[in-house]
Order: sequence, then C-alpha cells, then structure tokens
Amino acid sequence: MILKLHDEGDAVKEVQQMLNFLGFRYRKGNRYKPLVEDGKFGPKTESVVIDFQRSQGLLRDGIVGPITFAHLEKEYSIRVLELTAPGVDPGSGFEGQYFLKVVYADPYDQSYTRVSLRQDVAKVYEKIRAKVLSHGGILPSSGAIRSLWAQVTSSRSATSFHYLGRAFDLFVYGGMVEPEKDPFVIVKDEADPRYFRVYARCKEDWPVNEADMPSSIELPPKRELKNIYTYADRTGKRNKPVTDHFLDLTALFAQHGFERIAPRRSFFDHGSMMGAEWWHFQYEEGLIPEVSTFGGELKKLYTKKTLKKSKPWKYRHFVFGKEWN
Ligand SMILES: [Zn+2]
Repeated sequence: MILKLHDEGDAVKEVQQMLNFLGFRYRKGNRYKPLVEDGKFGPKTESVVIDFQRSQGLLRDGIVGPITFAHLEKEYSIRVLELTAPGVDPGSGFEGQYFLKVVYADPYDQSYTRVSLRQDVAKVYEKIRAKVLSHGGILPSSGAIRSLWAQVTSSRSATSFHYLGRAFDLFVYGGMVEPEKDPFVIVKDEADPRYFRVYARCKEDWPVNEADMPSSIELPPKRELKNIYTYADRTGKRNKPVTDHFLDLTALFAQHGFERIAPRRSFFDHGSMMGAEWWHFQYEEGLIPEVSTFGGELKKLYTKKTLKKSKPWKYRHFVFGKEWN
C-alpha cells in the first residue's frame, strides 16, 4: 500500500486518525492543530506524515509506504498499550512488586484523559490533581508510562522515568501556544534559570469530568507572569506579560516528590519543540542518589524474563544521580 498527496479514502482516514492519536499536529500560524479526519491526503496530512517520519528516523518523503505504515501501526499499538496497560493480567509480565494503575487526566484539545502510572506514584498524582482541580486548574496529559518496546528517539531518553511508571507529562500543546488562554503558562524560573516554571491557569469553567468536579473552587489570587516562553518565541522576549489566576504547578509537584527536568539545548537552537520538556514531572521519592539503579527500578514493574528481551535493560547498571537522572 502506498498513500501520498491527493490520495483519498478510508486508508488515508485511518492514517490521519493514527497520527492524531499519537499527538502529531500541523502548524497554523502560532497554533498547532490535529488533522481533520476526512480521508483526504492534502498538504497538511503530508506535513504531519513528514513529522512522524522525522520522529522515527525514517526517510522524510511524506509518502505512507509499507515501512512508514508499519511504524505507524507499531507506534499506535504501543501507545494503546501504554494508556491501558493496567488491563493486563498478572502473569503476563507485569508481576513485579508494583502494578500499574490508570489515572484520570483532563480533556483539553484532544489530550489524553486516562494514563497509567505505577500504583504508588498514581496515588500521589491523584492527590496533586485533586488539589489542582480544587483551585480551578486542570491537568490534561500527553502520556505517562512508556512501553519497554517503544522506539528510543532523539526526544526519548533511553533511561527515562517513563519506563518506570514514575513520570507524567502534561499536555504538550497545553502550554507555550497561546499564553493568554492555555491551561499552562511557562516562564523562565528566576530562582534557577536552567529550568522552566509551570503555572496552571485557574478558572471556574474548564471542562472537567463530572465525577471529578470539586464541590467548590477556590481560585488563587491574580498575579502577573513575565518572561513567558512559547514555541514561537523560544527566547521569551517578545511575549507580553499575562495576568490571571495562576497556581504554581512546579511548586505543587515538587511538594509531592515530583521533580522537573531541564529543557534540551536543542530546543533553544531551533530544534524540535519536543525538547522543551516543561511538561515532564518525575517522581524521585524513594530513590537514593549514587545507590539506586535504573535496573533495580525496572524490576519493580517487570519480570526479569521480560526485561532481558527489552532495550532499556541494557542500562540497568546506571546509577541515580550519576549516569541516570
Ligand atoms: Zn516526559
């Protein structure tokens, strides 16, 4: 099968659905939009296909041939597994000390509303989310656990906390797009300029699943944020300050043991926006610097038999705070 520009039909629609589900977007001005799933292979679909090919290290020709399609299908099925993994029964690999648990995130612009975390990490996450909701913020997500079988790419670290069920990503398009209305506003951290600081925009009327709706919302006081970064302006210089009800998410996550990571240098050098990493929070509680190993943590989720077949197992001797952080 080969699909290319100007083709039409159900197969094109299927490709569009998979690309949307995987979180790929086309750029329109300063905004990022999911493809219209209309089965028409236009220039927008082509540009998103090229993006996908780039992310996979494939030839960037914008044509969906057998190789690109196979990669799409594999990524798609792995993502489905990542989002629903707790459904697997004990004995099929997930029989370590911990299980995975599905947690809820919030709907925003086709973000994921259910993701999976290690059960103990999930508990802490749920506390954080309840707090955010009670202040009028939301937590849309781009994912959490990463499958052992997911392909390592330039924006996916080989020793990521995502493999351990210890990392949660806020929705990548939930911030750095339109600071006047995004659920998240990202600024340079005055206290430590190597990092971003993330604020949640709080208001009464974000769409939230009814079951999770807090009985009352207490908005934080209004404040002005400066030094705002966007994907369009990665210097943070041309963006106007914004005043609104903001909750300091970075501080809230840190209070509960979730740390941030620094943006990749490539992000500032016109590289992929996927290097921004402002959305990433990892649970470091229980890890001992210079002692805990990546492999030791993997073993808390998976059996050795499963791990031996996986790529991340290669890095099992990496030590927290040294080769692995
Ligand atoms: Zn992440």
